[in-house]
Amino acid sequence: MILLQHAADLKKLLDTKRQANLTIGFVPTMGALHQGHLSLINRSKSENSITVCSIYVNPTQFNDPKDLEKYPRPIEHDIEILSAAHCDVLFLPLTEEVYPGGLNKLKHYELGHLENFLEGASRPGHFNGVANVVDRLLQFVQPDRLYLGQKDFQQVKVIEKVVTGLKPAIVMCPIVREADGLAMSSRNVRLNEVQRKNAAGISHQLFFIRDHGKEFPLAELKQQAVERINSIPEAQVDYLEFCDAEKFTLINNWKDAPKIVCVTSVLVGGVRLLDNMLLY
Ligand code: AMP
Repeated sequence: MILLQHAADLKKLLDTKRQANLTIGFVPTMGALHQGHLSLINRSKSENSITVCSIYVNPTQFNDPKDLEKYPRPIEHDIEILSAAHCDVLFLPLTEEVYPGGLNKLKHYELGHLENFLEGASRPGHFNGVANVVDRLLQFVQPDRLYLGQKDFQQVKVIEKVVTGLKPAIVMCPIVREADGLAMSSRNVRLNEVQRKNAAGISHQLFFIRDHGKEFPLAELKQQAVERINSIPEAQVDYLEFCDAEKFTLINNWKDAPKIVCVTSVLVGGVRLLDNMLLY
């Protein structure tokens, strides 16, 4: 695996690959890698000649400085995992190249309702920070395909909006879960043993909705799921909503959209956990 820090070196390397008609798959991450990230790497490897993974803890998408500070950064371990997965290139960009104008000179992206909706409402500025970093990384990598996880469903919708000029194909990969159902996340390591065990209960509500939901109105399902998750010790639902999976707008009835996604964000002991379930 080739490790690079400078965008110019990356471009030089990837230009030679493009000239040889090789395809490039790109997996942007913030590190603390787990099987969820590896599923994206593996998918990219199966569909492209070259797979580039980036690790960059993007400061502009953290609205809470404590969250940024506590974000895990086990870089040595990440390098080992990526090498073992036969990732071709690991790009570790430098803040001065990602944000040449400094962290306070962000571009503003027109994200429409996505910006202040659900996850965006709880984390002001978060998606604009995501848009800035992804747009910049795409300029550096110019991939044929961009691999994103369904776990961050709203983020996929945001990136679909941002990716207009260079237009890589976006491949959304399914959520990889722990054996008890909890969606894998770099933040899970911040849960203590009891919180970790209890957090699996979030996914169990989504499984119930997937398997039995059609028998009930959405409002009833929502109320029941929120009550059950809030009854988990130290758990507090931020939102749990049913959305049109294409437009990502709220819906009230099963018949309101052909493809529906149930999205939730739950704080467990103060750690923000996201999960969702496609219902089609
Ligand atoms: P992050 O490092 O959290 O920014 O995530 C990098 C990429 O991995 C994003 O596209 C995430 O949606 C994706 N990802 C994170 N967790 C999972 C998971 N459990 N299953 C599938 N993809 C994931």
